[in-house]
Order: sequence, then structure tokens, then C-alpha cells
Amino acid sequence: MLIDTHAHLDYTDYDPDRAEVIARATEAGVTEIISIGTRLDSSTRAVELAENFPNIWATVGIHPGEVDLAPEDAVEWLRALAQSSRVVAIGEIGLDYHHLPTDPAKVAANKKRQAALFGAQLELTAELGLNAVIHQRDSWEDTLRILADFTGKVRGVFHCFGGTVEQAREVLALGHLVSFTGIVTFKNARQVQETARALEPGEFMVETDCPYLAPVPDRGKRCEPAHTRRVAEQIAQLRGTRLEEIAAWTTETARGFFGFKR
Ligand SMILES: [Zn+2]
Ligand SMILES: [Zn+2]
Repeated sequence: MLIDTHAHLDYTDYDPDRAEVIARATEAGVTEIISIGTRLDSSTRAVELAENFPNIWATVGIHPGEVDLAPEDAVEWLRALAQSSRVVAIGEIGLDYHHLPTDPAKVAANKKRQAALFGAQLELTAELGLNAVIHQRDSWEDTLRILADFTGKVRGVFHCFGGTVEQAREVLALGHLVSFTGIVTFKNARQVQETARALEPGEFMVETDCPYLAPVPDRGKRCEPAHTRRVAEQIAQLRGTRLEEIAAWTTETARGFFGFKR
């Protein structure tokens, strides 16, 4: 039994065969999938999927890469969407300084908007008593600075974690979690492999971030929730333990973090 804690099942990549993709996940032992919203339309679709499939849950949020397209009243829309009992967190939210506008004149305004929407969505998370799915890329210090105001009020999962053991410990000490993707199977991913080896049970979860980040040997192809199994297998191998143990730990951690009942 495994939980894919971060999938973008609403994306058009799955329009041709979404039901088959979900069935393959079940066959691979991935019993639950959290479909992550990145914009208002994507969040709406994630909620619809969660309302149609008993093993799918949703998060709603504006991804930092989508802030320039978000309407002024985005948080009001998210608050309304989060009324569904199938919504288990706000996300994905955060800061992304890797993909910034190519026009240098627009960078400062974009960063400011990212920070504003991250803060506003953390406020909403606290107000609703939910947890947050956090996207951080090349923005470590600013992400932690904004999150600091919510310590003790909001727990987050630093999804697609790629940092060092020390960075993981830093966020774990603040009550947050991390989760690992198929990157742990990549040859050049020594740092994250070291982190996946070092953390304790209860400190991490697994995810695919599909359609991105397909694990080896499917690297570069469309990823899907069934591949959560390979992520967990790789972590088990790195730690010299069995898949069943990693599956049990990460499933229990995900159940505790997301709740799955409201
Ligand atoms: Zn992300
Ligand atoms: Zn994502």
C-alpha cells in the first residue's frame, strides 16, 4: 500500500487514458493519490476528480509559476473550492526563482507577487486548519522567511525535496515534512539520495509529481502515479530495507499529514 502524495492528474497529458492510469496505480499498490492544483482551473479539476474517484484526494492552490495569471480574488475562489470534503491541503504554493520572467524588468514584480500570494495562501491554510504543499525552487531562504510567520499554525510538506540532510532537518525541526520524487532514482542525484537514506520514519513521504520526473528507466517519459512504487523501492534499496517497510512508513506519515477525512 502506497500513497502518491503529489500528482497532477488533472493535466491534459492524461486526457486520453486517465481511467487506465488510475487503474494501473491501483494494480501497482498505489491505493491513494493526491491530485495537486496549480491554478484555479487545475484546482477545480482536481476537486472534480477527487469527487469522482474514491481513492483520489485534492489540494487547491496557485503555484508560484502561475501567479501572474491568477485573478485578484484567487484566494476567495480557493476558499470556496476548499469547502469540498475531498480537499486535504492547500497547494501547491510557494516560491520558484528558477522559472522567472525572461524580461529582467518583470522579475522584481513577479517575485513580489509570488511572495504576496504565498503569504495569502498560508493565511488561508491557517484559517481552514489545513496543511500546505510547498513548492520551493532556488528560493530556500525567502520561502523559510515567509513560512516563519506561520510556525506552529501551518505544517507544510516540502515536496520534490532535493536538499541536503541539514536542510531537511531545518524544516523538520519547524514541524514540516519532506517528500521524495523519482529524482532519487537519477544517477546524478547523490545529495537527495543521501538525504533519503538519513531521515527517520515519519519524516518523509513519497510522490511522483507526475507527469514530470518519471523514475529510471522511464526518465523523460510521461510519469504516472503507479511509479510511486519505484520511488519507494529505490528508497528501500538506498536504506537496505524492504519496500513493504518504506510503504508502511510513508503511508502512515501521509495519513497523519493529510487526514483524508474532514
Ligand atoms: Zn512543485
Ligand atoms: Zn507539482
